[in-house]
Amino acid sequence: MPFDESLVTSEPSTHVECSQSESGALEKKPIKARVKNLEAIWFGEHYLQTWYFSPYPQEYTEARVIYICEFCLYHFASEKQFERHCKKCTIRHPPGNEIYRDGDVSFFEIDGARQVTYCQNLSLLSKLFLDQKSLYYDLIPFMFYVMCRSDTYGFHTIGYFSKEKNSIEHNLSCILTLPHFQRQGYGRLLIEMSYELAKIENKIGTPEKPFSDLGLLSYQKYWQETIIEILHRYHQFHGGEITIEEISEKTYIDQRDVLYTLHTLGIGSYQGQTTIRLTDAMIDMSKNKKRRIDSIAVNKVLAVF
Ligand SMILES: [Zn+2]
Repeated sequence: MPFDESLVTSEPSTHVECSQSESGALEKKPIKARVKNLEAIWFGEHYLQTWYFSPYPQEYTEARVIYICEFCLYHFASEKQFERHCKKCTIRHPPGNEIYRDGDVSFFEIDGARQVTYCQNLSLLSKLFLDQKSLYYDLIPFMFYVMCRSDTYGFHTIGYFSKEKNSIEHNLSCILTLPHFQRQGYGRLLIEMSYELAKIENKIGTPEKPFSDLGLLSYQKYWQETIIEILHRYHQFHGGEITIEEISEKTYIDQRDVLYTLHTLGIGSYQGQTTIRLTDAMIDMSKNKKRRIDSIAVNKVLAVF
């Protein structure tokens, strides 16, 4: 489930529905509370304290610290094995197509049916930092969108979101910004990309719920900023009235989420057509600078594949 990148909790208890068998396949297991089984991971050159349980096989978790290749996401129980792997591993970016690039930020689109091992390892990694996430035992129905920052060495994973391929309602299933990239506006970029993809598919959607408390905060912020921006623009060029339906059509945010956001902004209760008046504080909010997805670039790059 989505989480907010500005807040961190370290309570270890959680529940999971799946675990990884000795063969490496994710299997469905009864839900039960689990305590954190790893203290930390080495992710490339970054030492990251873990937050929650993740069902890595026991032989990996006995040492309490594991080593993960930041490019192929293979995990190792010892530093020696990891160093040996790093000398041999030539992978420098996630599998799949690079569907977006703006400066040093790229997105790769990965089919869960084609890159099963990579996506399983991504799920195991993300579970270390997501309390409410249930690991998928079947990755085939999902697409994964991995965001990276590139330098001369390679494409370093910042975070990702997953999305069910044939979902009528949901435009996002799970989202994570890795801890060392948090508080830099990348969580917002992930959410924004999920809505840009929804625009290309011409499908108004909503993220999978229930939210974690932190995920709700993250989305609230995105919805508020996006809706205020639309209201501000509409107010400038048209004045007068705008409906919930029109806001939803312009932002691809589900009408229920629009309605909810207007309530959180304290803009009355809405039934069909209504006049929305902007306050000075709301207009100031819309002027805040933030990292943005260039929607023209998404269309352009996607058209290539
Ligand atoms: Zn590797």
